[in-house]
Amino acid sequence: MSLRPPKAFSFRSIWSLTDWSGDTVAIPPQGRMNTQDQPVTPDSGATRSELWSAMKRATIMMVDDEPITLEIIQMFLEDAGYTHFVNVTDAREAIDTLERERPDIVLLDLLMPHVSGFDILQEIRNHERFEHLPVVVLTSSSDAPTKLKALEMGATDFLAKPVDESELVLRVRNTLAAKAYQDRLTYIDRLTGLPNRQMLLDRLDWAMKHAQRYAQTGALLQIDIDRFREIKEALGPSRADALLKGISTRLEGACRESDLLNVLSETESSAGLARWGGEEFSLLLLGQLNPDSIARIACRVLKAMDEPFVIGEQEIFASLSVGIATFPDDGADIDAVQHNAAIAARSLQSSQANPHGAFQFYCKELNARTLTRLDMESELRRALNRGELELHYQPKYAVDSESVIGAECLLRWQHPERGQIPPADFIPIAEETGLIVDIGQWVIDDACRQLAQWLAAGLSPGQLAVNVSAQQFRHRDFVSSVADALTRHGVAARHLKIELTESLLMRDPQAVAAMLTELRALGVQLSIDDFGTGYSSLAYLSALPIDELKIDRSFLTHVESRRESAAIVRAILALAHSLEMNVVAEGVETAGQLDFLKAHQCNAFQGFLFSRPIPAPDFTALLPPAAP
Ligand code: C2E
Ligand code: MG
Ligand code: MG
Repeated sequence: MSLRPPKAFSFRSIWSLTDWSGDTVAIPPQGRMNTQDQPVTPDSGATRSELWSAMKRATIMMVDDEPITLEIIQMFLEDAGYTHFVNVTDAREAIDTLERERPDIVLLDLLMPHVSGFDILQEIRNHERFEHLPVVVLTSSSDAPTKLKALEMGATDFLAKPVDESELVLRVRNTLAAKAYQDRLTYIDRLTGLPNRQMLLDRLDWAMKHAQRYAQTGALLQIDIDRFREIKEALGPSRADALLKGISTRLEGACRESDLLNVLSETESSAGLARWGGEEFSLLLLGQLNPDSIARIACRVLKAMDEPFVIGEQEIFASLSVGIATFPDDGADIDAVQHNAAIAARSLQSSQANPHGAFQFYCKELNARTLTRLDMESELRRALNRGELELHYQPKYAVDSESVIGAECLLRWQHPERGQIPPADFIPIAEETGLIVDIGQWVIDDACRQLAQWLAAGLSPGQLAVNVSAQQFRHRDFVSSVADALTRHGVAARHLKIELTESLLMRDPQAVAAMLTELRALGVQLSIDDFGTGYSSLAYLSALPIDELKIDRSFLTHVESRRESAAIVRAILALAHSLEMNVVAEGVETAGQLDFLKAHQCNAFQGFLFSRPIPAPDFTALLPPAAP
């Protein structure tokens, strides 16, 4: 039985470990915001004495059947400045208490009724979570075999009974200091200094139990950086890391404890920011939360990206997709909560509707819509062989004559049970798994096959544009595979256009330039997709053999209402024309937008105003006969 019952709210911060896990370098408090807990580690540059005082907030758990021993040890440690104790006199409760309280160190008596200290020690070491928990064994026996046995079973240190005050204080301090160092290695992300995935999972598990026990609500906010893969392509790895650090610093600022407390206006709340890995961060919240307060925090997080980041000489805007799962409502275990937050975040990324970032609460409908990644991966592998992939064609029109001049081929996955899946939902997975190389090859082949069919039927399909992803482009056989497809179907290269993204062009410029020249030599046309959203320098682009720029849809959206958007579109048109490139406007939805394009001599357009992407037979119906 605990002598002192655990406080109803006994945790201090979601990351109590990081309170003292370091030397004299900066240790961010990562949004600790428990009001009961004073003092708080400063933002940076913690001094030795500050660390020492933080260390004294460690939770010390003692297991001993004699209450008097516990009282004495606690008194000694209190004199030394420690404040958080969990005392257990019934050894049978030791493991449960351990799980609940998550102490930083255990002082364990070896000789007790019911269960021996050895058994407890063994259970601790067999427990995945407590494998590395420091356990100092208290033993009155000075005989070597007992000590040896305890050591073999994983005891961290010994303390002779009756306990000597100065020895006790020294052992506890040294053990905690060693643990702090170990924790720092194990739980801290090296790039950002934030707690890492391991720590987050550990705390999430704990927070879920805590929420259940004390009828609180928790929330896991999964924070993904939009289009990070592309940004990384464009910036290269070390600048991408600098951006990650910058984003992490902003997030920390947005999640500072005092600010969040204002937002939540709750006293018993706690928060912790972590780097989940890659371009993903997580914010864990616990307390008396409601959807409103969680949403306000999500807004703060999004707002932190309002200003651009300056990396080297470049200004870069980042936006975030924040997926939110609450507990206990949205999941019974850490896997479910984490998974559902990820689903919510991914639903935003795939919709791409909001260029300034957005948040989304998890709901069951989302789950039904979003395949689990694993399902998707294995099913995508089979989709190619089963013929479930299909090209749709979005007609492209000349701006002046409004006649069809070709189409963009857009991939669709006709899933037997889930219906049509849009490319944004599966292309990223295809890229991650490398499947994009085979899929992309199929796309080029099928486009050529279709071209040959239309040409053979005496129709004039104009040019078909296919999208090519970076990984596919960089594959060493890419150029020859394009040549093969054209030859196999007997189609002239001038009918084929290849759409590449800006970011793809920015990496390894020399190799890219050489490949573009080869493709051009085949007679294939080259186009830059989503132009204006990447980070390419125009001076560089002008040196490449490029035929066409496609202005990203986001600029068109506001061309009628925002002066800046109109100015950007005009500037792109002027520049492209001076470089003798054609310009295609994407995503034309209104007559006003088309009028604008006419007024400024844009060459071609595509968009819902005239036609959505349509299946091959529908596009066939739009094609004029070939000129005799
Ligand atoms: P993208 O290449 O920029 O294609 C244009 C996207 O804008 C298409 O989305 C098209 O349906 C959509 N769109 C066209 N006009 C309008 C409009 O007026 N309003 C709105 N709101 N949207 C419009 P879709 O088909 O979902 O494709 C999304 C992206 O997936 C494509 O963007 C492209 O990056 C990628 N993708 C599609 N097919 C392939 C492929 O075969 N290979 C690769 N690597 N990527 C592909
Ligand atoms: Mg495209
Ligand atoms: Mg595009």
